[in-house]
Amino acid sequence: MFDLSLILKVDPINPSMEVIKKAAEIIKKSGTVAFPTETVYGLGANCFDKVAVLRVFEIKRRPPDNPLIVHISDLQQLDLLVEDDLTKAEPLIETFWPGPVTLIFKKKPQVPKQVTGGLETVAVRMPSHPVAKKLIEVSGVPIAAPSANLSGRPSPTSAQHVIDDLYGLVDAIIDGGETPLGLESTVIDLSRDEPTLLRPGPATVEEIRKVVPNLRIPDFLLGKSQPERPLSPGMMYRHYAPNKPIVLVIDENKLDAVLMEYPDAPIVCPEEMARNFYGRRLIIMGKLSEPYTIAQNLFKVLRSIDTVLADVAIVVGLPEKGILFSVMNRLRKAASRVIE
Ligand code: AMP
Ligand code: MG
Repeated sequence: MFDLSLILKVDPINPSMEVIKKAAEIIKKSGTVAFPTETVYGLGANCFDKVAVLRVFEIKRRPPDNPLIVHISDLQQLDLLVEDDLTKAEPLIETFWPGPVTLIFKKKPQVPKQVTGGLETVAVRMPSHPVAKKLIEVSGVPIAAPSANLSGRPSPTSAQHVIDDLYGLVDAIIDGGETPLGLESTVIDLSRDEPTLLRPGPATVEEIRKVVPNLRIPDFLLGKSQPERPLSPGMMYRHYAPNKPIVLVIDENKLDAVLMEYPDAPIVCPEEMARNFYGRRLIIMGKLSEPYTIAQNLFKVLRSIDTVLADVAIVVGLPEKGILFSVMNRLRKAASRVIE
């Protein structure tokens, strides 16, 4: 549609309707728009437009069997997408929508197979970010949107990250500043007998279990096995990774040996641990005492590893509870070596 990507700057809280309308026009005309959500930036297209959806896969170089999340702005749009009776989903929808929780349902036949990677299920989320909400509303269609990064790279949490990966490929990029949560949505599969967590995210296991006490956590999320396909297609691929290898050290007792093995490697750790690594180059991920800062900074930190002059980076493992369980899920997938 355009030779270059159109960059549209907006106030994230009160986005200008002029900008939203311009971006919505692009969506309506089979184009692609990168936009901020409360989790990370998404790369959006009209979910019923197969050509536009295929363009999303092409731009990201995403494997065609890795399905997209469809974003909606009101509950009526669920009827266009979902076959199931929604009774099972009600407590989750009431508690977490709009917000960072994606739910998987049996799909309606009119949802293109391209969106769902060939599956009979569809992933749906209602975002709370004003820019995302308005864009979907004004486009008048649900928007299929994976994260707006090249496949395998860390997810984008600022417009600059999108520009670095996708400039010239996407028709427009709405710049609404940094995304507040910084971690992709929690994904829960409701299409099976038991509600099953497929991806931990900003809404924690502890919070979800308050509403869905029987939430199943598959072994692969606990590091015990490989994900099953087609339960969770996206989880099969290496993800979130900087170009440089990272070594994730989970067993503290092995840290000294790793430090000696890589004497020049920068160390990625929380602020509270900085003093343990006197004389080493440090990349601070946030504060253990404010773990949401670690989630918010995570992908920026992973991207910054590529700018440091070193062959490898060492990342210190974090306690796998609450939001840090989700952070560690991403770090395990980004790491080329995990020491536990
Ligand atoms: P992204 O939008 O890049 O954060 O990726 C979306 C994630 O949701 C991927 O890990 C997908 O595999 C997962 N996902 C999307 N749709 C489905 C589905 N129908 N069944 C299982 N997982 C899904
Ligand atoms: Mg992604």
